[in-house]
Amino acid sequence: MLPEVGSLWLLRLLRDIQLAQFYRPILEELNVTRPEHFDFVRPEDLDGIGMGRPAQRRLAEALKKHRSGLKSKNWVYKILGGFAPEQKETTPAPNSPRSLPEPEGGLKCLIPDGAVCRGELLGSGCFGVVHRGLWTLPGGQSVPVAVKSLRVGPEGPVGTELGDFLREVSIMMNLEHPHVLRLHGLVLGQPLQMVMELAPLGSLHARLTARAPTPPLPVALLCLFLRQLAGAMAYLGARGLVHRDLATRNLLLASPRTIKVADFGLVRPLGGARGRYVMGGPRPIPYAWCAPESLRQGAFSSASDVWMFGVTLWEMFSGGEEPWAGVPPYLILQWLEQDQARLPRPPLCSRALYALALRCWAPHPADRPSFSYLEELLQEAWPPEGHCVRDVTEPGALRMQTGDPITIIEGSPDSAAWKGQNGRTFKVGSFPASAVTLADAGGSPATRPVHRVSPAQGERHQGSVDGDRGKAKLRDLPPARGQRRNVPLQRMKVISKSLESVLSPGPRPTGGGSSPPELRHARAVPQGPPGLPSRPPFASSPSQPSQPPRERPPWPKREPPHSHPSGAPGASKVTVPAGGLLPDPELQRRIVEVELSVHGVTHQECQAALRATGGDVVSAIRNLKVDQLFHLSSRSRADCRRILEHYQWDLSAASRYILARP
Ligand code: AMP
Repeated sequence: MLPEVGSLWLLRLLRDIQLAQFYRPILEELNVTRPEHFDFVRPEDLDGIGMGRPAQRRLAEALKKHRSGLKSKNWVYKILGGFAPEQKETTPAPNSPRSLPEPEGGLKCLIPDGAVCRGELLGSGCFGVVHRGLWTLPGGQSVPVAVKSLRVGPEGPVGTELGDFLREVSIMMNLEHPHVLRLHGLVLGQPLQMVMELAPLGSLHARLTARAPTPPLPVALLCLFLRQLAGAMAYLGARGLVHRDLATRNLLLASPRTIKVADFGLVRPLGGARGRYVMGGPRPIPYAWCAPESLRQGAFSSASDVWMFGVTLWEMFSGGEEPWAGVPPYLILQWLEQDQARLPRPPLCSRALYALALRCWAPHPADRPSFSYLEELLQEAWPPEGHCVRDVTEPGALRMQTGDPITIIEGSPDSAAWKGQNGRTFKVGSFPASAVTLADAGGSPATRPVHRVSPAQGERHQGSVDGDRGKAKLRDLPPARGQRRNVPLQRMKVISKSLESVLSPGPRPTGGGSSPPELRHARAVPQGPPGLPSRPPFASSPSQPSQPPRERPPWPKREPPHSHPSGAPGASKVTVPAGGLLPDPELQRRIVEVELSVHGVTHQECQAALRATGGDVVSAIRNLKVDQLFHLSSRSRADCRRILEHYQWDLSAASRYILARP
């Protein structure tokens, strides 16, 4: 039996406890290649390969010893913090059926690299690319999945991307809701990959902006999506999480009538008694979706997510238009705060729903409804459904045939003309009220009375903020698209505004069209806004003095990976031929030692590292750690080495230090 180099530890461990016959089944059927993979192996799995319970207990004991001897090398788990099950040492009760440690709230699944094959590119986000994929389960079944891979450019992951990526994993793996995208597991390979539930129909934004012949989405379906979204957000809020990037680009269509909240890269736990998360420094945020307190103080809460829900509603009813398109960030805040301006009511949006959006945009967070209350409000604002009872062919009227399903957008019992959407043609327009009968009251929410908000009331709300505290009078609405105030229509050329920091200066080079959400890679470049010198649009929280502008230093030129002189003192040596490694057992042992000491490195990288150090294991390990840290941050290699030395070569401690100071 010739063991794979990366799994020699397993063979040794099994031999030590006279269980070597299980080496292949554990490796091939359970896909265990690293000690931590055993966290995800259940006793039933071991039963399945024919290992008896006493043998399982022996194995658990041996693993415990092995892992405590190894100490923690798994810096990924360390960064994942309390979410990960690493190093949990549960001693099984003698007769317990659970003879191996059980992950509690840990990763749903560690997936071996070879079990996932990637296919077509689905999109690209902040941390990397997303591919369609096929995940082959140990039992042989194949599951269609989406695979998000951490971008690793020639200079390594950019800035805090690795931290954000891992944070996204750590958050997602604890979530389970019908309208929250499910994480299946993580591939601890190079690059790191998240294996997620596939949303085969893509993002809601893409669907909203799809051109003919794709029909527009019916108003009733948009309302259904809003209800699903409010439910998912109530679930996140109840778990103490704030999403911070709610937008149609981050809602994925799992089926034609099901959306799932995705992209948890900006999700943060709500800290402290105030239920707020305050950003520690300038980071890219989707400013056009943000509440004023987020723009001004970097403060996020469930109430700021509610504000974003209002903007997402607006997007849905505007056919996926970009909110405040062309308006520089600093002006958005000024308009929101000083002018009390709000996004205008889209034609498809009923007054009742727009009134709901305005409540989400109350200036004071405490005046905004909670997500669970929003679920109720949505029910009340649900557009009634009816049926056409006679053909309508009058000029100027919405054409309809007897039997057509009609969603009523506006109408009151005493008005002769109603506005609605024909569910057969998806066209929207006015029609004689007499041509439609409402569905009877026993059915869905759509059967409610036509008007809960009178037109006059709706008009009064339009463009103003009538929160409970709000004393705002009717203000000028921001002009409709294409007729903005004297603000030049400035757009960033390639980068969507959605994730550009509000700290970016207002004017930008002009570019045409809406920037696609896939191109959201902007980085915050803190600069004072030209318009508001005394009151910057984005400032740190009062407790955190504003930081001076901090330019990210240009990327250091990547040094050759292991350019250190060989023969460093204090380590054993082995001759490493220049052309490649010979199958020398001592060399193999050293490779294994290096591989086990630095998480996530490949066999080839260990070979190369040993080659560069003339076989010196300690130096190879150190060089690889310097590499890892270098890829994690924007620091120079020399800096990384100093930090690692300071932390006595504890990569996880050094990584945490770096992640806390991007
Ligand atoms: P993200 O990095 O999460 O912003 O994803 C980038 C893009 O990839 C999204 O806008 C989607 O178009 C696509 N995408 C992400 N996750 C999935 C998924 N689970 N299923 C299908 N497409 C996805």
